[in-house]
Amino acid sequence: MDPDETGGGRRLTVSERAAAVPPALGPEAAFKILGNETRLTILDTLWAPWEPEPMAFEKLRKAVGISDGSQFNYHLKKLLDGEFVQKIDGKYAIRHAGAEVVWAVRRGYLTDHPELEPWETSGRCGTCGEPLYARYADELFFVECHACDRLHHIGPFPPTALADRTPVKALLVHDLVARTNVTLARRGICPMCNARMDRTLARDYSESPVRSFYLDEDDDRGLTAWHVCSQCGVWVSITPMEAVVDHPAVVELYREHGFDLDSVPRWELPWLVDPSNATVVTDDPLRVTVTVAVEDNELVLTLDEGFEVVDVGRTVANTGC
Ligand SMILES: [Zn+2]
Ligand SMILES: [Zn+2]
Repeated sequence: MDPDETGGGRRLTVSERAAAVPPALGPEAAFKILGNETRLTILDTLWAPWEPEPMAFEKLRKAVGISDGSQFNYHLKKLLDGEFVQKIDGKYAIRHAGAEVVWAVRRGYLTDHPELEPWETSGRCGTCGEPLYARYADELFFVECHACDRLHHIGPFPPTALADRTPVKALLVHDLVARTNVTLARRGICPMCNARMDRTLARDYSESPVRSFYLDEDDDRGLTAWHVCSQCGVWVSITPMEAVVDHPAVVELYREHGFDLDSVPRWELPWLVDPSNATVVTDDPLRVTVTVAVEDNELVLTLDEGFEVVDVGRTVANTGC
């Protein structure tokens, strides 16, 4: 259920929001305050979960490593003016806005640009059956088929999240995060900024509201829901197969066969990566079926316009016993 459509009250317009919360600082002024190594170090020092108490001036100055008190005071005042730091009983503490700056830096997107060479995954291309390859570049994970030159998955992953993980493990973690993002997007919530997302159902890529130079115009992804954030523009594309991967009936079918679905990336599930596995049964109202096959057992899930499951049918292949 979309929480934006429940709970009463009407949506605020952009101008109403602006009137309610006037911006204290334009983006340019904010970046001007933050574009200084000493100030970033002050924020990083104040963001210490093991030291949650506000810090006295001298203690903070020494921790940051600036000997000149008046110079240090100048930088601290800039952070106070920008409301990244607050003063409590004569001591200094980080505000949430300051913590967001620290996190933006520590996630590594701004400073680290590692790359991982393509490696062969255990997944197969739903179109041609050849192995799928994964790589990391441009702070994104790509899963693609080299044989038919088809991009199966693309998604951002923070450079620092690669630390202490093998590429295979990092990709598995990325898949779990991407599944959570799908869950949020389906409920109209932007996984990046939590603002409202708009959904467009497209029969093929030509009907999609999203254009990206990573996406191939000629690549037929079949029926896909495109969720685009009304504020930050982040988008999430969801096929009918991706919409049912966490459905209790699907999870249970895999569990019965001894598989934990969380341990298998979505692109390694043959029924999920095959665009022809979504069949439009009726147009009005829209009904789409997705078949999930595990060994001799098959689930046929029927989805409505919003990709909600409205029916689950189960068949067991005749084994001749
Ligand atoms: Zn292929
Ligand atoms: Zn957003």
